[in-house]
Formats: sequence, structure tokens, C-alpha cells
Amino acid sequence: QSVPQKGFFGHPKGLFTLFFTEFWERFSYYGMRAILLYYMYYSMKDGGLGLDQTTALSIMSIYGSLVYMSGIIGGWISDRLLGNTRTVFYGGVLIMLGHIILAFPGSIAAFFVSMFFIVIGTGLLKPNISNIVGDLYSKDDNRRDSGFSIFYMGINLGGLLAPIIVGTVGQKYNFHLGFGFAAIGMALGLIVFLLTKKKNLGLAGSAVPNPLTPSERNKVFGRLAIGIAVIGILGAISISTGYLTIERFTFLISILGILIPTVYFIVMYRSPKSTDVERSRLIAYIPLFIAAMVFWAIQEQGATILGAYADTRTQLKFGGFEIPSSLFQSLNPLFVVFLAPVFAWLWIKLGNRQPSTSKKFAFGLFFAGLSFLIMIIPAYVNGTDSLANPIWLILSFFLVVLGELCLSPVGLSTTTKLAPAAFSAQTMSLWFLTSASAQAINAQIVKFYKPETEILYFGIIGGIAVLLGFLMLILSPKIQSYMKGVR
Ligand code: GLN
Repeated sequence: QSVPQKGFFGHPKGLFTLFFTEFWERFSYYGMRAILLYYMYYSMKDGGLGLDQTTALSIMSIYGSLVYMSGIIGGWISDRLLGNTRTVFYGGVLIMLGHIILAFPGSIAAFFVSMFFIVIGTGLLKPNISNIVGDLYSKDDNRRDSGFSIFYMGINLGGLLAPIIVGTVGQKYNFHLGFGFAAIGMALGLIVFLLTKKKNLGLAGSAVPNPLTPSERNKVFGRLAIGIAVIGILGAISISTGYLTIERFTFLISILGILIPTVYFIVMYRSPKSTDVERSRLIAYIPLFIAAMVFWAIQEQGATILGAYADTRTQLKFGGFEIPSSLFQSLNPLFVVFLAPVFAWLWIKLGNRQPSTSKKFAFGLFFAGLSFLIMIIPAYVNGTDSLANPIWLILSFFLVVLGELCLSPVGLSTTTKLAPAAFSAQTMSLWFLTSASAQAINAQIVKFYKPETEILYFGIIGGIAVLLGFLMLILSPKIQSYMKGVR
């Protein structure tokens, strides 16, 4: 292989390139997300778009859902047209353009255009850059898992730094300047990628695994053109007649969030290429998929509901300096960075005695549920009219990360092992669909969050997650038996 095998902490040099590209991409994404909610619902006088808070929360969720749904498109383009490396590059360019649009004061229409660029761009970049990480190692290279852990660190270091810079600039000075910093971050990522990819990546990620044949090309491009035209015309008509409201669009995406994974499962199950063992494994994957979906639904509300909570329900001051609410978005990645090594050590220490995959998913649900249940306490003790102590919010972010570290690191590898071999090129998109569906559902449930309903809101959602966690725990021997040898 022409992949340089050493040069980055004992790992292939290519990991350096992927680490920093993804670091900056996540910096731009989470930086933007840290202020976007506030940009949407702050009044025009305060530099925002002046939407109502509930609409802003729904849009945040739909946005997050689409960003992961579009991974299907990115996976297909890489698999059949461009290969991983080139798809990642085009994705980065689109993302940067999206942030640049937000960097200029504009209307809500400009915001939707930027959203389109970032949704497609992230779909092209995120799943494919993770695929190249896998490409750096041969199948039996035992550095593979630790390579992914280092990569996950890059993700979270980017997410940790972003609110500190983009958030503070955006909230203390000007939202557009903040988005400008997100654009600069993505630009830096692209520069690292362009300058080092040739030397460091070699051939990794350059192949097109399953290229379209010339006859397929004509057929596919023809259908694609028709599809885009139909969607374009329908979109233009429904927007201009006022039929397509934000509310209806949100509903459409929520339906897609359920429909897409359902169709995925049915197609994989019925495919003649799937064997009986693979069908059994698919059945086992369904409860895991649902657990992951519920987990991410809560985890992602850290950027929506808890973001609004940080802004309106609590206040954190050091000396005379009021900590901008966006800074709370650094807590999740901060805890991940510090606790990931602890969990890695714990799993190694436990060796064969470590919990099975389905039990780890159950723990993920418990902790996510607890992270919401404790948010009942401040409202229960002090009511919702006075400000809450920020310590509850910090504790909530801490608890959800305990769950994240049970579920997320094994999630992708479990998906890879449980999906039928014929669909292996799509397993990255399948795993990201758990996040897409989660946020598609969030777009509907965040509407129930109001200061008056706070206790019920955190109580019901947290309670459901804990109950599902118990159910997973009880069912786990059964699920494991359907996995047919996969642990
Ligand atoms: N926070 C992590 C990231 O941005 C995980 C997200 C996910 O898998 N849904 O990559």
C-alpha cells in the first residue's frame, strides 16, 4: 500500500490529515449550532431574525436531522461517482460557502440557502471522512480501533473549541462575525486537507468502490434530472402559493425520519443477497437502532432545549463577566474528551466481563433518561419564575456523556457487524440515520417545551428513556442470541 504507515502518534500519517480536517469541520458546525438558535429567536433589535422560540427549536432539529439524512446522498456519490477523498473535498467547499452566506447580514431566505449548502456539504463530508479513517488500516491492523478513538477526539476537540470562539464572538459582538469565524474554520480544514492529502493519504479513499457503468450513468442522470426538476417545480409552486410553511416542511421531514429507516430495513431484509444469519442479525439491530434513536433524541436536545434553557432559565457570572449561554455547548465535548480515555480503560480492564453491546445501549438510555430527570429538580424546588442554578445544567450534560460513551463508540462497529455484507458500503449512513431520525422526531416534541410544562417535559421524556433502558436490559439476552455470534 502507498499509505505512509507511520508518522502521527504511531499511526498512519493520513490520520493527521483526517484529524485536522474533521477538527475544523466540527469546529464550524458546532460553532454555528452554538449561536444559530439564538440568532433565530433573538429580536431584530438584538441582531437576530426575530422568530418565535418554538419555531427556532423545530428548525434546529430539522436542520440536525437533514444534516445526517444527507449522509445517504454522500455515501452514494462516494460509492458510485467520486470516491471518498473527492467527495470530502466538495463537501467541505459547500459547507464553507454555507457559513460565508451566514457571515453576511441577510434575510431568513439567505439563512435557508446556507442551510441547504451545509446540509448537502456535511452529507458529503462527514460519513466519507470517517470511511477514509478505516481505509488507512488493513483489515487486521490492531491500531484500527485506537485510530478511530483518536479521530473521535479530533471531533470533540473541534466541538469544544467552537463555542468558546464562535459562540463568544457571536453572542458578545455580532452573530455574523461569529458565523464568519465558522467559515474561517472550515477554510482552514480545507487548506489542511489540500496541502497534506497527497503526501499523507496516498491512495486511501481515492477509489470509486462501485462505479456506475456508462449505461447506468445515462439512466441514473436522466432520472436524477427528472427528480430534481419535479422537486424544484413542486417546491416553487408550494412556496409561492404559501402552501409550504415551515410547519408543513418540518412535518414532512419528521415523516421521512421514520420512513427512511423503515424502508432501509425492509429492503435489506428482503434482499436476495441477504442470508438467513444476516436476517437474524437485522432483527437484532432493530431494538439497537431504536435505543440509539432515543439516546440521540435526548443528546441532541442539549443544543436545542438545553440551549434555550441556558439562555433563558439560568445565568452564570464570573466577576463582572457574564458567561455567554452558547458556552454551555462546550460541555458535551469537554466531558467526552476527559471521559473517553476513562471508558476505554474500563472496557479493557473488564475484558471479557464487559457488558454486551445491547447492555451498553441500555446504559446509554439510562444515563440519557437521568440527564433529563434531574432537570425536574430546579423547577420543582424553585419554580420556573426564578433563575435556576447552572449546576443542574452542567450535571445534565455530564450524565448524557456517560451514556454517549457507552453507546456511541460501539454504535458504528455494531452497525458494520450486523448489516448484511451486500449493504456494507451504506453502514455509515445507516448509523447516522439514528441521529437523523432522532432529530426528525425532536422537531415535533420540542414544541411541547414551555416554562410552564418544564417538569412534565423533562419528566416524560426522561422517564420513557429510563423505562426503555430497563426493557433493553431485560431483552438483552434475547437480542444477543439474534446477533448470531456477534458480541
Ligand atoms: N458528536 C459526534 C459528532 O459530531 C457524534 C454525532 C453523532 O453520531 N450523531 O460526530
